[in-house]
Amino acid sequence: MSDTMSIEQRMARFTPRELGFDAEALSPATRRALPHLVAAMRGMDELYHRQLGAEVPALMRERAGGDDLLARALRHFNGPWDTLDGHAPFVEGVGAPLPGKALYPADLGREELEAWIAAHPDDRAALLDPTTVVRREGDRLVAVPYAEVYRDELERVAAELRAAADLVDHAGLAEFLRGRAAALLGEKPLAESDADWVRLTDAPLEVVIGPFEVYADGLMGIKAFYEGMLLAVDHEAGARLRTIEANLADLATLVPLPAGSKGALGEGARIAPMVIADEVIATGDGFAGILASAFNLPNDPAVRSEVGWKQVMIRNVMRAKFEACTAPIAGRVLRPEQAGDLSFDAYFYFVLLHEVSHSLGPMYRADGRSTNEACGRHYSALEEAKADTGALVLLLARNGRHGIPALDPARIGASYLAGIYRSARFGLHEAHGQANVIQYAWFRRHGAFTGEGRLAVDAERLREAAAGLLDRLCTLQAAGSPDEIEAFLADYGAPPDDLVTAIRALDDLPIDIAPIFPAV
Ligand SMILES: [Zn+2]
Repeated sequence: MSDTMSIEQRMARFTPRELGFDAEALSPATRRALPHLVAAMRGMDELYHRQLGAEVPALMRERAGGDDLLARALRHFNGPWDTLDGHAPFVEGVGAPLPGKALYPADLGREELEAWIAAHPDDRAALLDPTTVVRREGDRLVAVPYAEVYRDELERVAAELRAAADLVDHAGLAEFLRGRAAALLGEKPLAESDADWVRLTDAPLEVVIGPFEVYADGLMGIKAFYEGMLLAVDHEAGARLRTIEANLADLATLVPLPAGSKGALGEGARIAPMVIADEVIATGDGFAGILASAFNLPNDPAVRSEVGWKQVMIRNVMRAKFEACTAPIAGRVLRPEQAGDLSFDAYFYFVLLHEVSHSLGPMYRADGRSTNEACGRHYSALEEAKADTGALVLLLARNGRHGIPALDPARIGASYLAGIYRSARFGLHEAHGQANVIQYAWFRRHGAFTGEGRLAVDAERLREAAAGLLDRLCTLQAAGSPDEIEAFLADYGAPPDDLVTAIRALDDLPIDIAPIFPAV
């Protein structure tokens, strides 16, 4: 596919979409700080380009500025490789990226690094640190901290963060920004600053800036890439979440705990701390082809267990994707009379309750083993299917109550089915893909999705069938033998022919958005 796709074809997969946010909801002082914060975010692009490859910064400076197709593609993928097509290069003269990008010597392989560490155990921590670059010094391998390698860029970023801190009228945010500047420069541990970010819950903005995810390190999977995300928080919408949380015990009664199993909820149980926000800009590793609809940070396990984390739902990105990608799918796969029933609110609360459902249902079996351990390699598919089905059950049973807005069941059903097709386009075999297949197959067989070709959703049957599927999934998690789990997946986990055919017929529709970030 990659050698036949033109840049035009690569970009045709994305629908340009403007993202907006409510600047008026921010104080004038916060608004004045935005340009400095955006400049700091742009700094993450520069750093990310340096991390990607030696040739990338100059290429981006010289070719990514204009409005021609190549410039737009370079900006969209934030580099010269198609991140959705196995990192195929699309610029003449640029080859495939190095697996370790520019964070290791070009000629260093995994075995040599491991052999060096085995022979020099004192070097292990520094060489495998997520925030060091590995270099050759004569015949030695040495680790150089990011704060040293990227000093110049980081100084500029820190100056912008401090300028923003001087302007904002929220003391906690100002303090966090100054601390973050220090952490980026290596003057304070990043983990400490990450913990400060988790504790900061009443600020008007979420400022995510620094090295976080390690997916782009194809050599060792350990080095973190720089990214930036600036978001305006909707505290009013967040208050609805507190209402949902206050009613968690009631919601938990809708998710079965079969066969003596135990759930995660104890006294004073909480759901994952969620934030609803609109994105102002995303940069670096935070935007390279696909813009995230939500994120969950920080990754540091020590910070997560001691202080916690934040789950941020990016509402304007979710809405843009829903309108640009899910709505056209609905027009093709749903009966015409139902295609107009699509509702962003139904979709948004479905995603939100998916996260809530992860903390409901069985977590330990009667024998004390965790469901995760007991279900082995099939756990993720069952758990994702449970979270989706649980969300559907909660939405249909409690809409209009407990912080969940009143939604028409027909709209819930139509938005849900269109959403299955949208996710299924990203693959049917990994955990999320298989979870989609299970739901589709179950609802087809139980008469909730009816017809041939274009489908209709029977909302009443959907309610009953969803409760049945949720019970089945919870029972398998709580007490299923390996054979019973295999048998269920053989029955419901193989992609039905009509789903495969329907997804193939969506090939010409955009798979995602090309975001146009708001001017600040
Ligand atoms: Zn999930």
